[in-house]
Amino acid sequence: MNAISEKYRQFTQWQQRPHEVMPMSEESHVCPTCGTSYTGNYCPRCGQSAKIGRYSFKKAMLLFLDVWGLGNRGMFRSIRDLLLRPGYMIRDYLKGMQMAYFPPFKMFFLLVTLSLFIESGFNITGKNRIAESIGEFNAGFFDSQSEVEGTSESDSELSEKQKQIMIETLRLARKSMEWTYQHMTLVSLSFLFLFSGPLYFWFRRCPAIPDLKYSEFFVALVYISNMLTIYSVVLGFLCLNPLLETLTYPLAIIPLKQLSGYSYRRTVWYIIASFLLFFIATMLCLFAFGIIMGLVAMIQGA
Ligand SMILES: [Zn+2]
Repeated sequence: MNAISEKYRQFTQWQQRPHEVMPMSEESHVCPTCGTSYTGNYCPRCGQSAKIGRYSFKKAMLLFLDVWGLGNRGMFRSIRDLLLRPGYMIRDYLKGMQMAYFPPFKMFFLLVTLSLFIESGFNITGKNRIAESIGEFNAGFFDSQSEVEGTSESDSELSEKQKQIMIETLRLARKSMEWTYQHMTLVSLSFLFLFSGPLYFWFRRCPAIPDLKYSEFFVALVYISNMLTIYSVVLGFLCLNPLLETLTYPLAIIPLKQLSGYSYRRTVWYIIASFLLFFIATMLCLFAFGIIMGLVAMIQGA
């Protein structure tokens, strides 16, 4: 029991310790490209890395990954840290350790692309899960449409005009669902942007970073969303129940807690409060939108 708690203590210590760059070696190098002699990791004249020796398999692999901008800047370290010490890693990044980690927005776009790739067939069952769920939705749509069309004047209260409105609404719902699937990146970034507002209100003066800027907080949220996408990519590849993915969302509490220095209880309360604010704001917008649409209809009708 003591051994376990000691291991846990070491783990939490490791979590909070920033990434350490290896000390520079005193060894001197002669650059194979320009012939300059120097000590350090890079040639000061042409920038070639001192590590370049004979062409190796690892080197070839990194160059191959570099085609997609992946072979540099600690991608593997960023993934590991996002899973094991996300909030502390984000804090270190915001404090300026930018060379140690993969850039947040680049990671965001790459992960979203990867997850679309996986959802559309690159998974263990080889099934296109996007087409499947659009298909299911369309089937439901045509059922409700024929239901609406099938009701005759006599057995329902629906007039021809009401039927038309219902069919039109269903068509709009279908279109917006398809649009959402095709613009997943845009949709999730806008959601993040809208939700960041109320959340920032509670975290802008947190104990760990008392002068947190909004732009920094937004970068933190992009990293947190990257963390969730990593989980969803793994679950999606294994084609597990989509419900499991929903269960990973609360894991966002961990980085927010580590980043802010608030207690878990406080972090959870602030997230709930932000959701409420976000919900109320959305409802007010919809309400205002409804009133405007109603007024427009009235003016047109008059
Ligand atoms: Zn050189």
